[in-house]
Amino acid sequence: MGGVDELDQSISLYRIRIHSKKWRWLLFTYMIDMAMANAWSMQVIAKEEPMDQLLFRRSVARYYLRQSTQRNIARPSSSNIEGLRLNGVEHVLEKLPTRVRCFICHIRGRWGCKKCKKILCIEKSCFANFHS
Ligand SMILES: [Zn+2]
Ligand SMILES: [Zn+2]
Repeated sequence: MGGVDELDQSISLYRIRIHSKKWRWLLFTYMIDMAMANAWSMQVIAKEEPMDQLLFRRSVARYYLRQSTQRNIARPSSSNIEGLRLNGVEHVLEKLPTRVRCFICHIRGRWGCKKCKKILCIEKSCFANFHS
């Protein structure tokens, strides 16, 4: 059996089954399946006691779920961001290389807050209003 046949068989065992009419989605899920099958076969070659494919896929899924959960915990809550915006410390105007729309009034300007990473104009006092 050739390498391509083995890969196809390995993919077909635990293929991602999400029905969609969009071909891009099918291609995307096939690529994930292919990457998982390749990773699993490398793990079979490398380890003395390799996992079966289902266990391997579950452990990869658990790993990424755990990563996303930890990232959500580490991310500051919206109330913390609100506190940073209004604390009046280290909000410095930063000149931008191009004109970009103001976060509040949507008029094109060249200024933003370095700390908040928001585009805020000074012509209409949006910088001052945003921080008070
Ligand atoms: Zn503005
Ligand atoms: Zn700011």
